[in-house]
Amino acid sequence: MREKILGAIKGKINRRSWENWFSTFDVKEITSEQVTFEVGNLFIKEWLEKKYGPTISKALKEVFEKDMPFSIVYSSATETSVKNVQANEPLVKKRPLIITPLNPGFSFENFVVGPSNMFAYSTSVEVAKNPGKFNPVFLCGGVGLGKTHLVQSIGHYIFRHHPDLRVVYLTSERFLNELVDSIKLGKGYEFREKYRTKVDVLLLDDVQFLIGKKGIQSELFHTFNELYNAGKQIVICSDRNPKDLEKFQDRLISRFQMGIVAEIGKPDREICKKIALKMIEHEKASLDMEIVELIAEHFSDNIRRLRGAVVKLIAYQQMSGEKVTPSDAYHILGISSLPPKIGAKERIFLALSSVFGVSQEEILSSARRREVVSARHIGIYVAKTYLGMSLRAVAELFDRSHPTVSHTVRKIDELIASGNMMVRSQIEKVVDQLRAEALGQNS
Ligand code: ADP
Ligand code: MG
Repeated sequence: MREKILGAIKGKINRRSWENWFSTFDVKEITSEQVTFEVGNLFIKEWLEKKYGPTISKALKEVFEKDMPFSIVYSSATETSVKNVQANEPLVKKRPLIITPLNPGFSFENFVVGPSNMFAYSTSVEVAKNPGKFNPVFLCGGVGLGKTHLVQSIGHYIFRHHPDLRVVYLTSERFLNELVDSIKLGKGYEFREKYRTKVDVLLLDDVQFLIGKKGIQSELFHTFNELYNAGKQIVICSDRNPKDLEKFQDRLISRFQMGIVAEIGKPDREICKKIALKMIEHEKASLDMEIVELIAEHFSDNIRRLRGAVVKLIAYQQMSGEKVTPSDAYHILGISSLPPKIGAKERIFLALSSVFGVSQEEILSSARRREVVSARHIGIYVAKTYLGMSLRAVAELFDRSHPTVSHTVRKIDELIASGNMMVRSQIEKVVDQLRAEALGQNS
């Protein structure tokens, strides 16, 4: 039955698409109710559902002579790798090692997937499972967004699951240096031989390093062609899209564009949070959710920096033996949530007035009415932590003593830590209001 179903589908799809998209496609289960198919990853699953759903339905109708519902499931890289590693990881690797050591942490299992990197991730998984299928693959995106992590994950995976393939991961800088050294020693031939004929999978990182360097670009061009023509897998990383590589030979750029160009975008807040949480878990530490949110908000442009922030806070917490509070975090990480130019200092009273319905005079007075006290305390807290103002500046702004300000900040931190939703939401409202004011002012 399996053959019959696959045959019927294959008969309706052109050869190239079949090879591209159906190489991992298989029948997983047939019941009287439906047919379940399995594919290699989520990206392919979604693609097949979208592009080939009707075709598959039609093929099933022919085979079963009635409408037969189907579903597609995918096996994640994690599952497969765990299975395979235990089953058949060779104790001694037979192949010659011409590989820069890979960072053991840079694996698919440790990579957090979200909308900004989904395509790059899926492509990488696919390449790792079926080297040579998509050629070349060009991974691009801003600094610290996970290119090296992904390309090394490919390396790890192939290393484990395709023991017959010789994988090389190296940076473009090292590629250049090796060429220069080999030429100096009169061994240019060996270099060529090594990269053009002894490599099955070439993972070349940071190709933007070769901008403006003509000689090495020619060398890469020839290496590329030899490997490509021999059906070897090539993956290239760069901090920019091929079309934005200035001072690069056009013939190389057009080769980079022949296969898949997968761009990694700026991560959203959710992935940043997940990545931070994963790192915290990895370090076997704990940080309050409030702090995680704060990190995700401020370090979403570069995950390397986000990582640095997490490590710094954990180290601080371990050294001081006390839980880091949000105001500590602002201080330790040297951030303030609003750019100083907006004059938020003056506007804080506006924000407080609109949230609590009390005037600046009342806040500065010694009135003890509940709303006034709340507005004052939240105002002090927001000024100190979110605006990153010094103790002295806050004391002056609110006409209070330093100890009062410190005490207030500590008290609010405690309230937040104890899960006081009211205080949290008041702070959020004031900060949102400040942001809205800042936006209004800038436009
Ligand atoms: P790039 O090569 O694009 O400059 P890296 O691959 O070196 O960036 O990533 C920087 C750091 O961020 C690494 O420590 C990496 O593990 C981490 N990182 C980036 N993206 C992710 C992700 N999606 N999930 C987990 N960690 C990530
Ligand atoms: Mg990198």
